[in-house]
Amino acid sequence: MDARTAPFSPPSTPPAPSAPGRPPRRRLRVVAGLVTVVVALVVILLVAKGLAAGPTGGAVPLPVPTEPTAEDGRLPDGEPASPFDDSVPTVARLDPALLAALREAATAVEADGRPLHVTSGWRSAEYQRWLQEDALRTYGSAEEASRWVGSPETSAHVTGDAVDIGPYATAEWLSRRGAPFGLCQVYANEVWHFELRPEAPVEGCPEMVEDASAVTGS
Ligand SMILES: [Zn+2]
Repeated sequence: MDARTAPFSPPSTPPAPSAPGRPPRRRLRVVAGLVTVVVALVVILLVAKGLAAGPTGGAVPLPVPTEPTAEDGRLPDGEPASPFDDSVPTVARLDPALLAALREAATAVEADGRPLHVTSGWRSAEYQRWLQEDALRTYGSAEEASRWVGSPETSAHVTGDAVDIGPYATAEWLSRRGAPFGLCQVYANEVWHFELRPEAPVEGCPEMVEDASAVTGS
């Protein structure tokens, strides 16, 4: 038989391409759907648990006390400042009338051969609170601490109306001779703490009070 005359046999029809694939794909979709539902349920449960534990279950962290900086009126490394240094906030933020009196006194003191330093002037309320807590730890009782460190509400340092000066010998000198400048020691237990008393050049400094707990604060 001639090959050319051989009866044409059409190629067998290939199977429908999708037919064998259908059942596994359907199973996959079902499994994927179940996984999604399970994951969603787990997420919902975890969120619900978290919400329930939130306000009552977890410990609320206490605020960490922040260390005062130069911007709070603290002197870097405790080094005293010149009363003429406007770059130091504890000096620059003093009441202008007190600062003018202090500079006048410093000029006179230095002409007498003595140095005059500011050991603490203006302080932020936060710094004062920090000092108050420190004094409480140092002195062990609120009563004794209040003799040395006032609260942010009472200390004249927070309003820029008080300045502590050093060294000690200069503070003693100013304690005796500060009145003509309007500078007065106000607490008997703090030779270094001065405030402006505008009437002092004429009337002299008023009588001191025993310590800071009596009136305002140091
Ligand atoms: Zn003081």
